[in-house]
Amino acid sequence: MTPPPEPGAGLAARILTIGDELLSGERLDGNSRWLARYLSNQGFQVLGMESVGDAESAIVSALLRGLEDVDLLVVTGGLGPTLDDRTRQAVAKAWGVRLEEDQHLLAELRQRFQARGFSHLPETNRRVALVPAGARALPNGQGSAPALWFHPARVVDGAFAGSADPPVVLLLPGVPAEMRHLMEEVAAPSIQEVFGASLSPPETRIIQTTGIPESELAGRIEARMAGWDGGSVEVAYRPSLRGVEVALRASGSQAGAALQGVESLLQDILAPYRYDQDGGDLAEAVGRRLRSRGWTVSLAESCTGGEVLWRLTSVPGCSEWVRGGVVAYANEIKGDILGVKESTLADHGAVSEAVALEMARGVRRAVPASVAVAVTGVAGPGGGSPDKPVGTVWFAVDHEGGGRAEVLRFPGLRAEVRERAAQHALHLLYRFLEDPEGGNG
Ligand code: ATP
Ligand code: MG
Repeated sequence: MTPPPEPGAGLAARILTIGDELLSGERLDGNSRWLARYLSNQGFQVLGMESVGDAESAIVSALLRGLEDVDLLVVTGGLGPTLDDRTRQAVAKAWGVRLEEDQHLLAELRQRFQARGFSHLPETNRRVALVPAGARALPNGQGSAPALWFHPARVVDGAFAGSADPPVVLLLPGVPAEMRHLMEEVAAPSIQEVFGASLSPPETRIIQTTGIPESELAGRIEARMAGWDGGSVEVAYRPSLRGVEVALRASGSQAGAALQGVESLLQDILAPYRYDQDGGDLAEAVGRRLRSRGWTVSLAESCTGGEVLWRLTSVPGCSEWVRGGVVAYANEIKGDILGVKESTLADHGAVSEAVALEMARGVRRAVPASVAVAVTGVAGPGGGSPDKPVGTVWFAVDHEGGGRAEVLRFPGLRAEVRERAAQHALHLLYRFLEDPEGGNG
């Protein structure tokens, strides 16, 4: 039994998912992911997740392990009527209780089968009405398997005793949609009733950044946070090829104020790199800026092969501000369609500032738009040279006030270079749109 939680210490949970298909890799364990998020949002600290196969002995030991140090153990899978569904048997064995037929569940099952035109309930399905002694069945309005709510702490010598303390084991069916429904609609009131008073749901803010490496960003933020004493705020960094998400998280009654305080404290560090909050794509943020200026954009892409345009045209409503573009992969296309001069290509090479600028200018002529962006680079694995190694990408932006270009060298394999380059092209445009006349985008 866990000791009663200290005030403010938070409640802890674990997740146990059951199914051979999870261990063989045939099925991705989406239930754990969803539950982890759900429980975290409720204010539980999720201490761990485990998956085990359908063998009863494996489930028994995982159940006992799973209850260590926690207030709530959520289990999914193995509650169906078939013989490979052994979760209820494992619960009975783990805590030494009998399985009893729940008459109310049985009546409900019979009714459901009758409604579907069956004259009687098949023996197999009858198993769904078996409930470990002392467990409470939470009926499932959608499928046949109910959720089961069980307090092992109350079991003494195979019978139920008085204590109402956590921990609680909540058993849910494995089918993801049923599991989610039972958690959100059926088990949630019981969770609130038992744990609500001790739960303090966290507030989070996710700030999306691009154009700065994780270590650099973290270094600056940590240095600034050293002077912060306005309440506990966790800062987490989630890097991907498209940038780094900075997740701020706080709980308690002052959470909102603490988050606001930290966001203001970090404002000038984040400003040059931040483009959105809570999951939006940079292409959407670009679209908002184009729309608010009443501008349109066209693209000339070489090494990104249309990825920038693909990202932009993935945004609903983009026809208002996307004109089109040219994937100018071969040099002749850069020349014939975009008007890049042969001498520029010969003197500077296709991956160069001069070619990037001529591509941007050329596409703005070929596909008229307020602003044009060009990308040309060496995605690899071949094609690099000592002065233009793999990963070197030139970017240019052009509008009636003139053009500007910049170069970056991206790490990674071909696909990574291309994705980073596409993200950078969008970021270049995004910064340009903030201040088209300023020279230092
Ligand atoms: P049923 O009544 O369907 O038998 P059950 O509780 O016995 O329900 P399982 O048999 O374990 O559940 O799984 C039913 C379906 O849900 C299977 O297709 C399975 O792959 C899927 N499933 C089970 N667990 C998970 C999980 N953790 N993540 C994603 N899918 C899952
Ligand atoms: Mg099953």
